[in-house]
Amino acid sequence: MSLAPGAVPCAIDVLDARFAPVVAHRPALERLATGAIWSEGPVWIDEDESVLWSDIPNDRMLRWSARDGTTVWRERVGFTNGHTRDRDGTILHCSHGLRAVFRTRVDGSGQRTVVDRWQGKRFNSPNDIVVKSDGTIWFTDPPYGLIVPEEGHGGESEIGDCLVFRLDPRTGELDPVTGLPEHPNGLAFSPDERVLYVSDTSGALPGQGSNHCLWAFDVVGGRRLANGRLFAEISPGVPDGFRVDVNGWIYASAQDGVHVLDAQARPLGRIPVPEKVGNLTFGGRGGDELYIAASSSLYRIPLATRGVQQSRGSPDAPGSPASRNGTNVFRA
Ligand code: MG
Repeated sequence: MSLAPGAVPCAIDVLDARFAPVVAHRPALERLATGAIWSEGPVWIDEDESVLWSDIPNDRMLRWSARDGTTVWRERVGFTNGHTRDRDGTILHCSHGLRAVFRTRVDGSGQRTVVDRWQGKRFNSPNDIVVKSDGTIWFTDPPYGLIVPEEGHGGESEIGDCLVFRLDPRTGELDPVTGLPEHPNGLAFSPDERVLYVSDTSGALPGQGSNHCLWAFDVVGGRRLANGRLFAEISPGVPDGFRVDVNGWIYASAQDGVHVLDAQARPLGRIPVPEKVGNLTFGGRGGDELYIAASSSLYRIPLATRGVQQSRGSPDAPGSPASRNGTNVFRA
């Protein structure tokens, strides 16, 4: 299989008529970059219209932009995995190697630890992360940096479990919100933040569990989870990472591409990708391009929908660049 950058054949499956308008323009799938060992955690950077992502086994982060092409953004990053934008415009990074969540400025400078332990015990290997509109930071802590030799420094779990955490950076409160998924991995809120979806990828490795699914939880009082239920099984492969669009539809990674489900878990469509998909994110000026981190490569496909996650600082976040220049850039 040639992995040269450029257009890639892509016969999109429309499984439900509601999905047809999203791809009615017959979008082309494009390979933007290749050469990674295993790609995860793409994050769109609105300020310079770039995508950053992790090449975990090479312990580096890559950057792609239409202007600059593909470059190494930072090396020896502590085996970062998932990333997201905080409301002050900084980038939050999950690090297997540091067993921590840390932040940097958007240019990669000013690295500092956000949180690295719970009740005195180090995390396993924070994997993926989202910021709720109230500023709280939610992240998963599966064991992959401990048990996959090329994705961290190895080690034992000090917590003895794989949990999802909620951090309130204003108070420092750090609470586990669920231990239901065996290996919690990707996570995302519904557009109204009343539901949190968490993927469970315990079936990804032999000798672990067998789950390859998304769980759904009701968010109670903005801070607790209740009514955990199996939302959908994704096959082939596992739903390592996923995103939600303005319709509340879920775009989940899988072995064979991106699977699209509605908020009742009914399948809407499938976007085939020629390499195993790890994570994805919405980006582009309009938030309507799907950037897909798949094994060695980064792909893009423009869709007639928009993601709901934030891609730069919020005007109401204290000290944010956006608050200082007064522009309204928050994408709700
Ligand atoms: Mg992940």
